[in-house]
Amino acid sequence: MSIPSDRNELATLVTSLRRHLQRQERVGIRFLFPGEALQTNVVMADGENLLSGTEGDLFSDSSATYKAKTLEELREAIGDCRRCKLWSGRTHLVFGVGNPKAKLMFIGEGPGRDEDLQGEPFVGRAGQLLTDIITKGMGFKREDVYIANVVKCRPPENRNPEPDEVASCEPFLKKQIDLVRPEIIIALGKFAVQTLLQSKVPITKLRGNWHSYHGIKLMPTFHPAYLLRNPGDKKLVWEDIKKVIKEMNGENA
Ligand code: SF4
Repeated sequence: MSIPSDRNELATLVTSLRRHLQRQERVGIRFLFPGEALQTNVVMADGENLLSGTEGDLFSDSSATYKAKTLEELREAIGDCRRCKLWSGRTHLVFGVGNPKAKLMFIGEGPGRDEDLQGEPFVGRAGQLLTDIITKGMGFKREDVYIANVVKCRPPENRNPEPDEVASCEPFLKKQIDLVRPEIIIALGKFAVQTLLQSKVPITKLRGNWHSYHGIKLMPTFHPAYLLRNPGDKKLVWEDIKKVIKEMNGENA
């Protein structure tokens, strides 16, 4: 970086630096350690480090989110989160709902309008369809499974979450998965599937086949909102769900 040549240039530089630090503080970073990456360390049952890499200070050793031993503690630690710009448009932060020890976890993209208003994932028309899949299709109660989204606050106009928003929020989902430790994840829709699998492969090619998310079996399928627009594809989702039922009944062994 060149040395500022006059007072105006210096003032511009100071303003830029102040804005940068304010942005850092908004995402929870209050200390800078030049050249030092803050390490994450949440280890799954199979020994794999679910949160390997750098995640700002979300899961540094001192953070409450890192230390959370229960979903309630994690929710409390997330608090009135402002780590990404989605906070500004939300009515409620939609954390997740269901059995904290569920064997089956559903993961969608993010809250829509109804979810934002009610503070619970999958409660609108698409949510009713998901509830039908769980109850009528699989024979569970909604409270038997755990339901969450990749991002916890509603993106404006239901647009896809942006990369910085996912980067800020996904550690919360990873910690949720680590606390619930489901045997199977059903990822709902292109965005959740591609985010969890870190893949650009179209969902039409990924769905219906088993994948692994850090050692947890993952079945991608279409999002219920997509099925409302394309009811002809319900039969494909039913095929995927039948594979999950078989797996849970040990019939694939
Ligand atoms: S989307 Fe996630 S990271 Fe962004 S403000 Fe909401 S809870 Fe925080």
